[in-house]
Amino acid sequence: MTEAIEGGCRCGRVRYRVALDALPKAYACHCRDCQTWSGSAFSTQFILPEDQLEITGEPAVFELTSPISGRTSRQHGCPVCFTRVYNTNSIRPGVAVVRAGTLDRSDELTLVAHIWTKRKLGGIDIPAGAPSWDESAPPAEFIAALMR
Ligand SMILES: [Zn+2]
Ligand SMILES: [Zn+2]
Repeated sequence: MTEAIEGGCRCGRVRYRVALDALPKAYACHCRDCQTWSGSAFSTQFILPEDQLEITGEPAVFELTSPISGRTSRQHGCPVCFTRVYNTNSIRPGVAVVRAGTLDRSDELTLVAHIWTKRKLGGIDIPAGAPSWDESAPPAEFIAALMR
């Protein structure tokens, strides 16, 4: 029997379960938006089809349309403790990007790729050989890096 893969916000109101057989491959995004959203050096994320993410606790949704790209992101977070849990984006319908640090088993994750490294903070070294990109990765290359 495989161990359930679950996660949630800091206060426990918003919880989720992912329909995966193994922990997902996580990556780091060092972009400015992720630094702002997380208040940290980078966000730690994983991707999965939205229909494989089962949410309980009614997250609050914050919708933001970029004036530059015209893309709309929908951020789903806890309305009580403000943990950002996952988002979707109009450019990738049906795909959820989950904040991997919200997984209960986040200590078992390995970062397998890094994007937007041109915004990376000093003091963070990317391991030699780890796939990384200055900005966002071409989708096919990125998926290949996550599948390795
Ligand atoms: Zn909460
Ligand atoms: Zn980012």
